[in-house]
Amino acid sequence: MRHIKHASFKGRLVMLGFGSIGKAALPLILRHIDMPAGRVKIISRSADKSGIAQEFGVDFVVQPLDEENFEAVLDAHVSEGDFLLNLSVDVSSLALMMFCWRCGVMYLDTCIEPWPGRYTDPGTPLSRRTNYALREDVLAFRMDKRTGSTAVVTQGANPGLASAFVKQALQDMAIDSGVEFSSPTCHEDWANLARKLDIKAIHIAERDTQVARRRKRRDEFVNTWSVDGFVSEGLQPAELGWGTHENHWPAGAARHGYGCDAAIYLDRPGAATRVRSWTPLEGRYHGFLITHGESISIADHLTVREGGQAIYRPTVHYAYHPCDDAVLSLHELAGKNWEKQNKARILRDDITTGMDELGVLLMGHEKGAYWYGSRLTTKQARELAPHNTATSLQVVAGILGGMVWALKNPRAGVVEPDDLDHKAVMEVARPYLGELTGVRTAWTPLRDRSALFKEDIDPDDPWQFVNFRVV
Ligand code: NAD
Repeated sequence: MRHIKHASFKGRLVMLGFGSIGKAALPLILRHIDMPAGRVKIISRSADKSGIAQEFGVDFVVQPLDEENFEAVLDAHVSEGDFLLNLSVDVSSLALMMFCWRCGVMYLDTCIEPWPGRYTDPGTPLSRRTNYALREDVLAFRMDKRTGSTAVVTQGANPGLASAFVKQALQDMAIDSGVEFSSPTCHEDWANLARKLDIKAIHIAERDTQVARRRKRRDEFVNTWSVDGFVSEGLQPAELGWGTHENHWPAGAARHGYGCDAAIYLDRPGAATRVRSWTPLEGRYHGFLITHGESISIADHLTVREGGQAIYRPTVHYAYHPCDDAVLSLHELAGKNWEKQNKARILRDDITTGMDELGVLLMGHEKGAYWYGSRLTTKQARELAPHNTATSLQVVAGILGGMVWALKNPRAGVVEPDDLDHKAVMEVARPYLGELTGVRTAWTPLRDRSALFKEDIDPDDPWQFVNFRVV
């Protein structure tokens, strides 16, 4: 079968990290970007036991990067006009981005990672352990870097495609409800459209139902993507973009006091904070309010300001129901006072059934809420691409969309998913997202609430965060 080459690339590509996402991304990069495998190199902390790098004829260098050695190591492998694809954990995204900027190297990552220790050092102030702080550091760096080598930050599925899904959902809702709009071209246009539609809250609503042959064992953390990455973000403070309609103030919440002020954080880990949400196939469920870059960047980009004051912003957060064995893993982790299990397992070839239902749920409009996103089973994912699962392929679809955008816009400076042309990204990503669908729902977090116990809710406004939060 002939596959479309979305872009051709004459430089060298260095992939940093070759875990669940790196292994899944390599086949699709070589499929859709016109470049020989001989110009791709992987640098990673540990050897590739899977044989996938060798299968695709790609050089592999085993070399952990740290604060002292990263420039010297990368200097030997990349120079002006090359591309660094960062799919590692525990290597500072900002440090890599600065290095790439100086050298004229294009860059893409799927998460703003710090050097090890920042998430887990109890001496680090809570605010500095957040994704808000990590993003603010990147925004400060990009102040004077609106042109120059393109660096796309946080472009996977979520963060990443979630920002494109929101734009598509806003357009669908506008058409469906007869709200007039001309094609939005800038952040202000999108923010004004969201305001016009009265969107009060946006969840990144995800239900992963994938199951493997061997179930979780005691003292083992099982997940469908990085265990290190998930435990780290689960132990960061819970964070959410904070809407201007909110009348309540959550217990233990704080503002940062610096930066864009689009988000707040709670004095508890996201892995211990549950919220009510909804996806079309799962229906209502409890998800984890894990901090994610998109909760902050989407809220920031959808802010309407007048005279410097934010007069409109939706509340935005993740409501993640990971695969069932990951939920059990989180439960065990919490019981052990957040001390990580001795064993870790990332599911891939042993998955027997299940799907990742990943989308955005936009709420507040008088006609009800609207979920827009991807439903992809692992069976479909395996038919579409080798070495993938439903979860990895959704992420890779976002990476590929972002890489192609960067190759076609090589001098765009530092950009977030919200800055990209969502149609161009989706054109590349769409074939790998299974069923892309939009579904209306009358669900609200107040509907069918159990009358057995008295709860702290606001019956006058379903879209207050207090109504989503599971105490
Ligand atoms: P993983 O844990 O499976 O793999 C991480 C890789 O990084 C491994 O190959 C490891 O050897 C390498 N690595 C670790 N420390 C290193 C160091 N010091 N130097 C060099 N290499 C090092 O992780 P994954 O599931 O492949 O995820 C990779 C990244 O993608 C993470 O940052 C994760 O948060 C992110 N991610 C984003 C999304 C999204 O949708 N945006 C989804 C899933 C994962």
